[in-house]
Amino acid sequence: MRALIVGGGAAGLATALALHDRGVASTVLERRSPAAAAAGSRLTVAPNGLSAAAALGVLADLEAVGAPTDENLLVGATGRVLGTVSIGVPLASGLRGLTLRRADLVAVLAEHAAGRGVEVRADARVVEVDVADGAVRTERGERLRGDVLVGADGVRSLVRRAVDPGAPAPRYVGLTNFGGVTADPGIAAGLRPRAWTMVFGRRAFFGAHPLPSGEVVWFVNVPEPPIPAEVRATTTDDRWRERLVALVQDDAGPAAALIAAGRLELAGDSTYDLPRVRRWRRGTAVLVGDAAHAPSPSSGQGASMALEDGVVLGRELTAAGRGVEEGLAAFERARRRRVQRIVAAGARASSSKIPGPVGARVQESVMRLLFRTVVTERGGAWMTGARW
Ligand SMILES: Cc1cc2nc3c(=O)[nH]c(=O)nc-3n(C[C@H](O)[C@H](O)[C@H](O)COP(=O)(O)OP(=O)(O)OC[C@H]3O[C@@H](n4cnc5c(N)ncnc54)[C@H](O)[C@@H]3O)c2cc1C
Repeated sequence: MRALIVGGGAAGLATALALHDRGVASTVLERRSPAAAAAGSRLTVAPNGLSAAAALGVLADLEAVGAPTDENLLVGATGRVLGTVSIGVPLASGLRGLTLRRADLVAVLAEHAAGRGVEVRADARVVEVDVADGAVRTERGERLRGDVLVGADGVRSLVRRAVDPGAPAPRYVGLTNFGGVTADPGIAAGLRPRAWTMVFGRRAFFGAHPLPSGEVVWFVNVPEPPIPAEVRATTTDDRWRERLVALVQDDAGPAAALIAAGRLELAGDSTYDLPRVRRWRRGTAVLVGDAAHAPSPSSGQGASMALEDGVVLGRELTAAGRGVEEGLAAFERARRRRVQRIVAAGARASSSKIPGPVGARVQESVMRLLFRTVVTERGGAWMTGARW
């Protein structure tokens, strides 16, 4: 059996590694050049995703490039502490989460893939998908086919359009995303270590995480309509920073200072999720990662689900006595309920960042109660306690 994988992000590379470890060779086609793939912002991989990373043999290298994250400290606009929520059920080593650049996550997976002899082709954009034949055509006119065709090409997946032409378009979750990093050991020392401090601000949601280097990584979610591509292309970083500072300056904490002195890594990104893709597979083609089930970033689970998908697809596709189509059906059975539940949880987390019609004080009191009773490590154990 040979797999053809469209997309060299977390899902595509995890799938390639899992298949390789079970004796199946793959070719991964990635549209971006290695330099373009190095751009982008940070994310936190939850314990369930770290467990999948361990199953793929890449956890030690992720720990070398990531900062440990244990919890989220949740704060209101006035600085009132609303609660502390664990990132999730710890691994046996005590590790709960890792915050790292998305590019570093992908680079570690890509290095392992290259080291194990997986063929990963950069600058290989797929422009046509022939599901019936398990084949694709690249921008350069090359035609390739695999015994199994894996669509790991993200939330705007081309493979998904071929697998399920009626699939709903991605849904805007109502928030734009900005992210950056600021070298300020003074502010870093004042933040809770190994934690995201998250502020439910008056006009924006803000998060900051100190790194052992004395830098602070931060993000801002702004409730607003999606930002058009032409606005993104013509707005300077200085202008974005001014706008973000104006949005957070009335809130308690170091948000305004961090943004004003920081370097943007992500600007004007509009966030989409995929509520439900009816079909994940057709014949010998299957969707994984964001292509099948993009959650809102607020779930903190997209990368973890992508890694989990790879591990489970590798296992189900290579189980003894199964044909490809049976293996893909078993993969969907093993995954669908879990990922849909996580996508739904992510949509709820996104809407909690959008100030509602009730007053801030009332909203904060409700949240304090929720963070004590519902949004807890125990309450989320079904999600973060999964082990692979
Ligand atoms: C702002 C933001 C913050 C986030 N924070 C977190 C977080 O804290 N924790 C977390 O777990 N997740 C987070 N996520 C989600 C996470 O980044 C994604 O869920 C995860 O990267 C999905 O991996 P993937 O491989 O499925 O898709 P992608 O990462 O989108 O990878 C798809 C790949 O396919 C390639 N591709 C696309 N089309 C083609 C084509 N036609 N031909 C060839 N290649 C193609 C793309 O270039 C890309 O490399 C966040 C997302 C965003 C936007």
